[in-house]
Amino acid sequence: MAVQDQFKRPLRDLRLSVIDQCNFRCHYCMPAHIFNENYTFLQKEELLTDDELVRLSVLFSRLGVEKIRITGGEPLLRKGLPSLIERIGEKTRIEDIAVTTNGVFLPKLAQDLRGAGVQRVNISLDAIEDDVFRYMNGKGVGISPVLKGINAAREAGLYVKINMVVQKGVNDNQILPMARYFKRLGVTLRFIEYMDVGSTNGWDMRDVMTKKDILTELQSEFSLIPVKEAYFGEVAKRYKYSDKTGEVGFISSVSDTFCGSCTRARVSASGQLYTCLFASKGTDLREKLRSGKSDEELFEYISSVWEMRDDRYSEDRANLKDKREPIEMSYIGG
Ligand code: SAM
Ligand code: SF4
Ligand code: SF4
Repeated sequence: MAVQDQFKRPLRDLRLSVIDQCNFRCHYCMPAHIFNENYTFLQKEELLTDDELVRLSVLFSRLGVEKIRITGGEPLLRKGLPSLIERIGEKTRIEDIAVTTNGVFLPKLAQDLRGAGVQRVNISLDAIEDDVFRYMNGKGVGISPVLKGINAAREAGLYVKINMVVQKGVNDNQILPMARYFKRLGVTLRFIEYMDVGSTNGWDMRDVMTKKDILTELQSEFSLIPVKEAYFGEVAKRYKYSDKTGEVGFISSVSDTFCGSCTRARVSASGQLYTCLFASKGTDLREKLRSGKSDEELFEYISSVWEMRDDRYSEDRANLKDKREPIEMSYIGG
């Protein structure tokens, strides 16, 4: 049975960040004025090695994890990612290994990822209009490389969902064009509320387009029907188009919190374990991995961290009780 935390939430999902670097500088995640040439990214020896990532995955699967999501920074920048994923799949027997990516390197890697056992990829795309997207990614890259990545993933047989973070006054004019585009393709589009993660993006509640705002906009053009939760802890609130051309989802972590069913642990590229996306402090697993601890000792240690877990930041934020300095999104990968 999966280990449970203070609120009886089991440990079911693991997000593994495999690198802290990225080819984009999205303003809400890695603003270019901070993540510039003076910024110190992790050195190679500070990153968890493939062997360490495989070992941790096995331990987490013994603790109850059934799904692993590989993230970053930009995970496809990590050398040898497909073989790492293949090893994780073989050793843990976890079938549900997914990747979250900005999509740019998928034309090169989609086939290998599929061959390594990946079935699903979430591709982030915040706009379908070139100019808006060029601004959003902070690198002036147009949408074409991402659209090529989406095509490559679909051709390789990967199940694709698109993630769009919506910021008021920045890309909210893209909600309808994005919905039209991906409805035509039959690809699920998920709208993510802009969150107050990290301390570099200058978050302000007034910049958030809530699920309600976005849904109202969509309903001005489309007829949408709510879909029932498929399993305990499903994060996205889903709606299907009434003409059966697919669905959209909402990750409403600001306006409609889901801490009560949060079964997710996150491990940063440097091996810090976070039991909440908004945690300001992690637990150092790298030091434990490198200090000759046995698998049993590590198992007990991670188990005790989860058992102590009492995080519910989003709910506390709603009550204005909790004001902390959370870690950066690019460090733990969403
Ligand atoms: N680089 C990959 C990508 O962009 O898909 C993986 C890492 S990225 C940190 C994971 C997801 O977090 C992306 O979909 C991104 O849009 C989202 N994200 C980053 N900062 C965010 C914020 N402040 N609020 C909401 N979502 C955010
Ligand atoms: Fe990079 Fe993803 Fe963050 Fe954008 S959201 S800066 S693509 S890690
Ligand atoms: Fe989970 Fe923390 Fe997000 Fe709540 S705020 S849903 S506990 S990650």
